[in-house]
Amino acid sequence: MYQLKFTEDVCVKCETYDCLTKCQYMKFDLQKAKEEKWKLIRGEDNSIIKGCITCYACEEYCPYNNHPFYLIVERMEKTGYHTAPKPLEQSQIIAMEAKGRIKQKKLKDPVINMCYFPMLTGSIKGELFKDASIVVGSDIFCNLMFLHFGRQSTTNERLPKVIDNLMSYYVKPNNLKSLICYHDECFGTYNHWADAYGMEVPFKTIHFFDYLYDRLVGLKSDIKSLNLKVAYQRPCSNRLCPETDKFVDGIFQLIGVERVKRKYDRENALCCGGILEVQQRFEQFKETQKNNIDDMKSSGATHCVFNCPFCFWTLAKSVKKVGIIPIMMSDLCQQALAE
Ligand code: SF4
Ligand code: SF4
Repeated sequence: MYQLKFTEDVCVKCETYDCLTKCQYMKFDLQKAKEEKWKLIRGEDNSIIKGCITCYACEEYCPYNNHPFYLIVERMEKTGYHTAPKPLEQSQIIAMEAKGRIKQKKLKDPVINMCYFPMLTGSIKGELFKDASIVVGSDIFCNLMFLHFGRQSTTNERLPKVIDNLMSYYVKPNNLKSLICYHDECFGTYNHWADAYGMEVPFKTIHFFDYLYDRLVGLKSDIKSLNLKVAYQRPCSNRLCPETDKFVDGIFQLIGVERVKRKYDRENALCCGGILEVQQRFEQFKETQKNNIDDMKSSGATHCVFNCPFCFWTLAKSVKKVGIIPIMMSDLCQQALAE
């Protein structure tokens, strides 16, 4: 098993305890944050394990990249805490395991990793994705979602095989060199989680928005400005790659879309609620969705833009009810190209 790189001394010198004082789902002042954090580090009983909703955000809040969220997940697992009912957790572990259906095929660049979303491969079409190859399915599923269940061991055990599977897709000598990750979760896995656990990733990954931005720049003369006001639903796994958020602004600028200023965006983004539902925190689920949607509405957004399909499936109906149109980022870009 790969070991987490967490350095206690970094927390000793920390003055802010941002990992907890900025948490939007538990309330800590600096003193309480220090006390609870050190109980967590020492492996003592603490309020973080049961209060954490696994939103990933403290991985972004920590100014020293000391992996506070990954440590919480380690402690959840070590103490036998389950964030969701065990049968639900087990059914997910079984449902998401590699099915061994991988067939070697010649892939041409650009290669889009569609994670475990075969139902969305139809959206990879048109000029934006001209000549693109797709890899998709259980055999290349990053398995990072098990952090939401308080289990890092499943990701830890499965990821090396997933990396091997991705490499085996390519017929030698055309080894896999770069992979465009459709889902933030895959990009976060290969760039952030793997690094935190010292796991080598033998290929380069490109964030989906980085790819979209470049393609749109190339197709600039075909773009029709959409002239829309949109709210962006930032997904939890983007906390592992906050440097990619600038591509959202870049894309919106290219297609003539205004990202409305609102309370719950960027570092202050709220969970879509999906994980709260899975964890059966129904009151928190209702409250979080209400705060998020009220904020979208009062900011004047007519559309809510998603990159994560899970966020889309969780929030789409609720935003529609208040008259906001839910749309995936790639579909929005295709609209700007009149496709
Ligand atoms: S994990 Fe980061 S933010 Fe939290 S106490 Fe340690 S150094 Fe500070
Ligand atoms: S993962 Fe989210 S809910 Fe859990 S401690 Fe970090 S910021 Fe708070």
